[in-house]
Order: sequence, then C-alpha cells, then structure tokens
Amino acid sequence: MPNLKHNLQAITQSLPPEVTLVAVSKYHPTEAIQEAYDAGQRVFGESHALELKEKHDRLPDDIEWHFIGHLQTNKIKYIIPFVKVIQSIDSIKLLNEVDRQASLHNRVVDCLLQIHVAEEETKFGFSPEECLSVVRSLDWSTMNNIRIRGVMAMASNTDDTGKIAAEFRRVKQIFDTLHTSAFKGNTAFDILSMGMSADYELAIEAGSNMIRVGSKIFGERNYLQK
Ligand SMILES: *Cc1c(COP(=O)(O)O)cnc(C)c1O
Repeated sequence: MPNLKHNLQAITQSLPPEVTLVAVSKYHPTEAIQEAYDAGQRVFGESHALELKEKHDRLPDDIEWHFIGHLQTNKIKYIIPFVKVIQSIDSIKLLNEVDRQASLHNRVVDCLLQIHVAEEETKFGFSPEECLSVVRSLDWSTMNNIRIRGVMAMASNTDDTGKIAAEFRRVKQIFDTLHTSAFKGNTAFDILSMGMSADYELAIEAGSNMIRVGSKIFGERNYLQK
C-alpha cells in the first residue's frame, strides 16, 4: 500500500481537532494496520469478532480497538477481554450480554447505541423512536460494566447528499435529545459516531465527532481474500 501513509495524513490533517478518526481495517491484512500504526494511527475499527481477535493478538497492545459490525451474542467472548468501544449496540439483549461478560473480565466496556436512519433494510440498529424509549426504560443502575458513550449511525448509500445530510441531522437531534434528557449531566456521554469514506465531511458538518473511514485510507476491500 504505497499511498496508505499519505491517505491517512491527508485525512488526519483535514479534520477539526475534536473529531476522532477510527481507521476501519476490516478485510485488510495486519501488515496494512501495522503500517498505519507506524504512521501514528492508534484507533482502529473492525466488524467481525474473530477477525478482530486474530488481529488484536498479532498487533501492538496500545491499539484502541472499536467493534463496528453486527455482533452476535455468541461472538462477544472473542473481543470482550480487550475491546475499547462496541459502537454497534443494536438490541437490549446484546447490551445485557456485553455487560454480563465484561463483568467476568472486571472490565467496563464503552458502548454506542446504533441508530438506524438509512433507507436500507439490511442495516442494523434502533429506530430513533425505539432508541429514545429503550434509553428511558432501561435500569442503568444495574449495568456496572458498560458505559454508554453516545450513538453511532450510517447514512443511506446514495449520491443524494441532501438525503445523507438530513439523515445525519436526524441522528444529531437524537444525540442532543439524549444528551439533555436521559444522559443529562453524564460527561461520559460525548461520542457522535457518523461518517465514512464517502460522507464524512457531511457528517462533520452535521456535528459528528467520530468518523469511521476505511477505503479512503486502505484502498478497496478485497472480500474474497480475507
Ligand atoms: C466498513 C464500515 C465503515 C468504513 O467504510 P468505508 O466506506 O470503507 O470508509 C464505516 N462504518 C461501518 C459501520 C462499516 O461497516
């Protein structure tokens, strides 16, 4: 990957200081991740539990790993000993199970609630209404091993920038509502994760403070050769 370091620096240098870059390394080999690491990147995102575990075991210990894909409860065990943030909490069942398994490791795992605003049925997450009611209904005092740090969302896969921007603004609204209601005074609730290679500028305009960028750093993913 001759351009990896250049791609990474071009993005990093263009970001406002409050925006964290998660380098999405799914389907890319550990050599590419090591190269980004050597260029200074420390936060990486993966979307398959076993792939993440294998990469974690082979790469430096001070990498901050974020899980960003759909997580089945029977796969939590692979990542729970070390994962920093699970960005893709899309059910109460998953949240409860993450809390339970994190307690077995004496850890507190940061979590984001995934909100579904895109048109595609295939994307996971709570609808905006569901998200607000779930947050109101849960008994947070019993969950000692997770910490809700904010929300994550993906926009529709479309060229219609007006539509994408509107979806990001909707997520920002939910974030603000939670911030001033259920999580009022909770300084840990501070992450609004939205924006990928194609749309992170729009996401930042809408208020995102964490972007998840893969192909614009590592190039196209090769899904055949994992
Ligand atoms: C793959 C993925 C990304 C990165 O996508 P790119 O288009 O390669 O930047 C970001 N977020 C999630 C949830 C992903 O699954």
